[in-house]
Amino acid sequence: MNRVEVNKDNICLNRIEEKCINCGTCLKTCKSINNFDNDCINCGQCILTCPTGALTPKYDYKEVLNYIHDTEHTVVVFTAPAVRVAIGDAFGFEPGSFLEGKLVSALKVIGFDYVFDTTFGADLTIMEEANELITRVKNKDLPMFTSCCPSWVLYVQKYHQGIIKNLSTCKSPIAMQGAMIKSYFADMYEIPKEKIISVSLTPCISKKYERSLYPDTDFVITTSELILMIQELGIDFKNLKDKEYDKLLGKGSGGGLIFGVSGGVMESILRTAYYMLNKEKAPKDFYEFKAIRGEKNIKDAVVDMGEFYLKIAVVNKVSTINENFDKLLDYDFIEVMACPGGCIGGGGQPLVSIKDLSDIRGSRINSMYQSDASLKVKESYMNPEIRDAYDCYINKRNIELHTDHSKK
Ligand code: SF4
Ligand code: SF4
Repeated sequence: MNRVEVNKDNICLNRIEEKCINCGTCLKTCKSINNFDNDCINCGQCILTCPTGALTPKYDYKEVLNYIHDTEHTVVVFTAPAVRVAIGDAFGFEPGSFLEGKLVSALKVIGFDYVFDTTFGADLTIMEEANELITRVKNKDLPMFTSCCPSWVLYVQKYHQGIIKNLSTCKSPIAMQGAMIKSYFADMYEIPKEKIISVSLTPCISKKYERSLYPDTDFVITTSELILMIQELGIDFKNLKDKEYDKLLGKGSGGGLIFGVSGGVMESILRTAYYMLNKEKAPKDFYEFKAIRGEKNIKDAVVDMGEFYLKIAVVNKVSTINENFDKLLDYDFIEVMACPGGCIGGGGQPLVSIKDLSDIRGSRINSMYQSDASLKVKESYMNPEIRDAYDCYINKRNIELHTDHSKK
């Protein structure tokens, strides 16, 4: 076998046989990410390096369009952080251009009834995970690994079952936001939940698999699928006027935004955990955490959290795990993202010149951090929509924001 295997029933990945020249690049890419021959964890990196465009995400966007065109359903879309810094690649913008306003505008023109930001779901994850981290430290139940990347979770379930208990029990931002749309949003807007179609727009094909585990999200479409929608509907993306997200589950904090880059989940959880422990804003270096930014395979630091010191590590690319597995268990808190650079480098992002991939990821990373630096609200606990959601809903209801990874 010279190429990655793509079964017909694969819900994330597709191969157009007529375009395949059997070059073997996809298998080489897979081995460099996954370490385990031909055992797919759905990261989709092979799509980005296939020279002929034979590999694509499994497309779901046509079904989404059918729901948009019927009048029976309220169709709600929520956009992952990394989409806004990559979509411009398909429309002649400089790599890394931050196009949040045009993205929202395009989704409204397509006909989505509500456009929300998954940075809200990321803020929820941060609140829950910061809390979990503090509890685990107090109970000496460490290390804790992040769990928002479904390819990483699948990797643990396949190859490292011994640490399933060390994965954070938090659902991913998308799974949390899906749950909130089918409960909080449905109740507040008085829409029966069976009439709501929730669509997650992501840079990630693995989220299509995750959706099958958490069906509050009805569809997952990738950045590359949105580009096809825009092109097929003849929308002039370049000249769209900026629009803002709808309220309630709308915009998240800077911490929620940097979830899209390697090190971002760690940085934002530490900002909030510090506040929870000390009842004051974290020191300045929590807002420009140089030691855990960028694309090094392992980034680490010892962090003064006030009450205790925390040994942290950020793992860039899942292949880094096996080479360093025992060493990693000595840390207290570890972030792992399957894709190089984190979700900004996900397999559902637009195709770009293969030789420029690394530079383009760098531009997207810079763009995300610049935007975080420019935002007034950089911490999840300061997001007013998150405060409202806890005060008037989450604290009073039984919303499932956590999961048991050993049962999935
Ligand atoms: S990289 Fe693309 S063209 Fe090459 S073997 Fe894989 S699917 Fe076929
Ligand atoms: S790093 Fe992000 S884009 Fe890549 S598989 Fe994980 S969640 Fe998906």
